[in-house]
Amino acid sequence: MTELTYIQFAYLAAATLFIIGLKALGSPRTAPRGNLMASIGMGIAIVATLVMRDVVNYPMILGGVVVGSIIGMLLATRIQMTAMPQMVALLNGFGGGASLLVASAELLKGTVAPLSVPSIAIVVGALIGAVTFTGSIIAFLKLQELMRGQPIVYPGQQFVNGLLGLGVLGLCGLVAMQPDQLPAYAAVLGIALVLGVTLVIPIGGADMPVVISLLNSYSGLAACATGFVLGNSGLVISGSLVGASGIILTKIMCDAMNRSLTNVLFGAFGAVDTSAAATGAVETRTAKAYTADDAAIVFNSARSAIIVPGYGMAVAQAQHAVRELMDDLEGRGVKTRFAIHPVAGRMPGHMNVLLAEANVPYDKLVEMDDINPEFPECDVALVLGANDVVNPDARTAEDSPIYGMPILNVDQAGQVLVIKRSMNPGFAGIQNPLFFLDNTMMVFGDAKETVLGIVEAMKDL
Ligand code: NDP
Repeated sequence: MTELTYIQFAYLAAATLFIIGLKALGSPRTAPRGNLMASIGMGIAIVATLVMRDVVNYPMILGGVVVGSIIGMLLATRIQMTAMPQMVALLNGFGGGASLLVASAELLKGTVAPLSVPSIAIVVGALIGAVTFTGSIIAFLKLQELMRGQPIVYPGQQFVNGLLGLGVLGLCGLVAMQPDQLPAYAAVLGIALVLGVTLVIPIGGADMPVVISLLNSYSGLAACATGFVLGNSGLVISGSLVGASGIILTKIMCDAMNRSLTNVLFGAFGAVDTSAAATGAVETRTAKAYTADDAAIVFNSARSAIIVPGYGMAVAQAQHAVRELMDDLEGRGVKTRFAIHPVAGRMPGHMNVLLAEANVPYDKLVEMDDINPEFPECDVALVLGANDVVNPDARTAEDSPIYGMPILNVDQAGQVLVIKRSMNPGFAGIQNPLFFLDNTMMVFGDAKETVLGIVEAMKDL
């Protein structure tokens, strides 16, 4: 067997590990194993690539590996769970940027045949890579609040974007047919970089996680195109896997919010501030405030409890405290479960990851469709830093921006306890009628401190 055959076998093994790893990532129980398998696959692919004869400069590659590993390790260990979406945005952007650079380097060699697989792959890789690069930077800036999160819209915006899109596609065709047309290639890059910005600025911060998932898919497609440029089957397969899984995740997120992808991309959700403060509407309903001691009394007389974690639990890092509360309740014979909404928090699986970190057993986590029929039978529902995902307006108010989004029906529980710091709205920027219901008790405070307060108060009961 030749060296090339060994390398192809190594890529096949890597691709197999990627696919098995991805499958294992589908459940929290098997996810760590999936992560490990995919990492081993990536290790094999890297070694196989490095033994190729085409590699001419090992010291430079080693330097890149060392610098990249240090930056990656620092980012991974220091990043807060709540900032994970913007970190993923940055990584997608770097992926797109890398594809753009590789495609450009191949074109500049001057050996690309007109209208060939490499010439087409170069323009496709550069186009998608450039859009992904600047689009991801804008997504990062919006989520990091370095730029206004609200949609930036202006008259004729979609016409301008359409014109830029058509222009860049025409130029791509020209470069694919005549790869020596460097000014046309430069124009492709320039317009694609601008397009990344203009396509993402009209999208509101609330929809950014969906956009990031879509850009993740784009970065995979750009890498796949780069695989064709380099004739590297490993890159083609892994790029396609990223492209496909990114688009599947995008669809899952859109379905969970009951919105179409077109609505997310072009609907400028959040452009109009509907909060009472912004509209000047005066809130006439009153919410009833209670203390952690009151909440402890409610739990003490309950036989079943469902805890609904949301973004506030992540902000407060209250997962360990809530695990303590669960242990205490279970010790008293209170049947306790966690209800997981698919878009609770700021990324899919956000709550699962945090609760797994606090060693909450997986069988305590119940998905929305399975837990919803149980709320009417449940004594206490504890809403811990969640808001939009428990807003009954999504079920009943046709004029609500979140109308139609499937929610957790906590309002149907015997008693609802809501822990949050204030009456401020959640991500969608709208008020929640749950807080004013007769069976709702508001316990204002930081999620972690308040839960620890309840656990403490229960010791005396
Ligand atoms: P929300 O953003 O609706 O509400 C979170 C609540 O947590 C806020 O009302 C806030 O109230 C409270 N909070 C914040 N910090 C703390 C703290 N330290 N202690 C206690 N409470 C706190 O969160 P949900 O999880 O209910 O909903 C997620 C939203 O994100 C949905 O609108 C969803 O569509 C959107 N989204 C989610 C995606 C995903 O993949 N998960 C993707 C795209 C969008 P206060 O300030 O008063 O404390």
